[in-house]
Amino acid sequence: MERATEEAGIGFRRWYERQLIESHAWFVTCVLCLIAAFACLEQMTASAPPAYLLVLGLLVFAAGALAFYGARRYRAIMTEAERLADRSVCEACNGYGHFRVPRLSAGAPFEARCRCGNRWRIE
Ligand SMILES: [Zn+2]
Repeated sequence: MERATEEAGIGFRRWYERQLIESHAWFVTCVLCLIAAFACLEQMTASAPPAYLLVLGLLVFAAGALAFYGARRYRAIMTEAERLADRSVCEACNGYGHFRVPRLSAGAPFEARCRCGNRWRIE
């Protein structure tokens, strides 16, 4: 069962590439939402109609919340990628990323198995 789960994963290098793409997509989302939030804040003046101010306030809140979530996702994904990257070199053959990353929740330990047959635990 454990072997089947391990085989169902993807190679470390591909996994790492996907993590970087996803995390930076979240980072760009965060930056764009911050720009949108500040643009809305700039439009809020005392002479504006209350309904307009309400809509702007909701947009600021939504953009701020999405920016906050995006920053958290960016940090979480990068932390997980760094956790695995720190242990991605096989001590037996010195190969980089020659193992598969199982589909599991972030932060969970698993056993890496190199092409050369060496096994080590990534925690
Ligand atoms: Zn190896």
